[in-house]
Amino acid sequence: MPEFSYVHSRGWVEVIVGSMFSGKTEELIRRLRRAEFARLQIQVFKPIIDKRYNDMAVTSHDLTSINSLPIQDAEEIWNHLKPDTKVVGIDEGQFFEQNLVQVVQDLAERGLRVIIAGLDTDWQAKPFEPMPTLMAVAESVTKQHAVCVVCGVPASRTQRTAGGDSQVLVGTHDAYEARCRLHFKPAVDLPTLDWKLKREEIVATTPS
Ligand code: ADP
Ligand code: MG
Repeated sequence: MPEFSYVHSRGWVEVIVGSMFSGKTEELIRRLRRAEFARLQIQVFKPIIDKRYNDMAVTSHDLTSINSLPIQDAEEIWNHLKPDTKVVGIDEGQFFEQNLVQVVQDLAERGLRVIIAGLDTDWQAKPFEPMPTLMAVAESVTKQHAVCVVCGVPASRTQRTAGGDSQVLVGTHDAYEARCRLHFKPAVDLPTLDWKLKREEIVATTPS
């Protein structure tokens, strides 16, 4: 839907939110690839702090990836923006400062389509700025769900299973699980699954 609306629009902001493992990065990559099929010049940025799978690419937990430029501050987008770029993708928006909102708004004012993926809530299920503000100013908001690793229903929360209580702790299955409202605890909780074993089990039982 957003793509068709964009055709009739000038600048346009799309936000993709949800818990960890809800497919935000996959959805971001899918939309960017479709823009490439439409022969639109794209550029992708991610916060330098996110080195989980690859320094120079936005990579999903399923290891789908697209080349990206790591930046420290959202304002750096202006230094790298190419004149013919029509679509800007930004992953892990919650790791940027609040000035991401103004940069995104200015990009849209210039007529660009801007797609930002990020966590809407942190490990305590509290709103994780600047994503909530971006949701308010965006033309389109998509809220995704993971699968609760305890009971299998749609998961809206990111359970921290290791580490301290800082708001930012970059990790994957080593520190986080997707959980539903019922099984989420706003404190560090022991992991439900041994992800190394679980991964081997999923691979072993998936038909080729
Ligand atoms: P996000 O960017 O929202 O953290 P990704 O797009 O990187 O999510 O990864 C989504 C992928 O994560 C899924 O396609 C699936 O392979 C994997 N995954 C791992 N754990 C879960 C889970 N509990 N629920 C759903 N997907 C999961
Ligand atoms: Mg992601």
